[in-house]
Amino acid sequence: MADPAKKTVFSGIRPTGPAHLGNFAGAMRNWLALQDKYNCFYSIVTWHALSSEYQNSKVIKGYTYEMALDLLSIGLDPARCVIFVQSEVKEHAELHLLLSMVTPLPWVERVPTFKDMQKEMADKDLNTYGYLGYPVLQTADILLYKGEIVPVGEDQAAHLELAREICRRFNRLIGEVFPEPQMLLTETPRLAGTDGRKMSKSFGNAIYLKDAPETIRAKIATMVTDTRRQRRSDPGEPADCPVFTLHAAFVEKPRREELARGCRTAGIGCLECKGVVIERLLELLGSYWEKRAEFEKKPSRIWEILDEGNRRARRVAEATMEDVRAALGF
Ligand code: SF4
Repeated sequence: MADPAKKTVFSGIRPTGPAHLGNFAGAMRNWLALQDKYNCFYSIVTWHALSSEYQNSKVIKGYTYEMALDLLSIGLDPARCVIFVQSEVKEHAELHLLLSMVTPLPWVERVPTFKDMQKEMADKDLNTYGYLGYPVLQTADILLYKGEIVPVGEDQAAHLELAREICRRFNRLIGEVFPEPQMLLTETPRLAGTDGRKMSKSFGNAIYLKDAPETIRAKIATMVTDTRRQRRSDPGEPADCPVFTLHAAFVEKPRREELARGCRTAGIGCLECKGVVIERLLELLGSYWEKRAEFEKKPSRIWEILDEGNRRARRVAEATMEDVRAALGF
């Protein structure tokens, strides 16, 4: 049962492969922090994954399982939040359709990430009606649960602004159904992958949560650093070092500042500096690996948890759609 004293949070994550450190630092870690403070609806957004993976749709079910396994293994507790699969709650599609009727076309065309994502995923044809409507589907995701708080990084702020505009327009033109969702700006550090580019599954440069400790060691040990540090005695600049993006996300500030000073004065070598973040990650992921090993003994448990989450989400979604249909006069 949802606690009426708590506000409702909605957030979604795309199942496009196992979760990597960038997903953890950017979204999953925030989800953990919010699960006790709010009534949280966390969705594995299969239809959003389909908008870019439609030519490879058969992998999405497996990735949904992987994502649920990752979310539960980092410590999300299905007794304290609702974890569910977007495409198992058909009301998302109905509300998406209805919201698309009231959304002016220029509003979606101006969303900056539309063009950015097309560039980033240049190997995929994202010039589709479905991909253009992605932010409208995101709006439906939030409003379906009467979401009041949406955790977003700065790069997603434009999407939420659009959701708020669509919400206001629906309430004004059709009827007051939805609370206007508020933005909870969260830290979403941009992590570099092993080759120095943004960490991404599609670049093949990601460090995954499920990687074994020796894989994590090996990936970071061979990761590119600031090119100024050709020799141990050459000073470097952490701001130009891909490895240091990991320190920025995972190493405590005093230790991080000490390492930055050591880099700039050539007081420490890259090996030592990398060693600090490796140990920190192994410590951080210890309980994740333990929980994951437990779940892997009984994979059916993951689907049972999702089924229960789908049921809980559906109950709320059905009630909202009754309000929406009444407001429409249907
Ligand atoms: S010392 Fe650390 S921050 Fe400096 S270049 Fe090496 S790995 Fe990067």
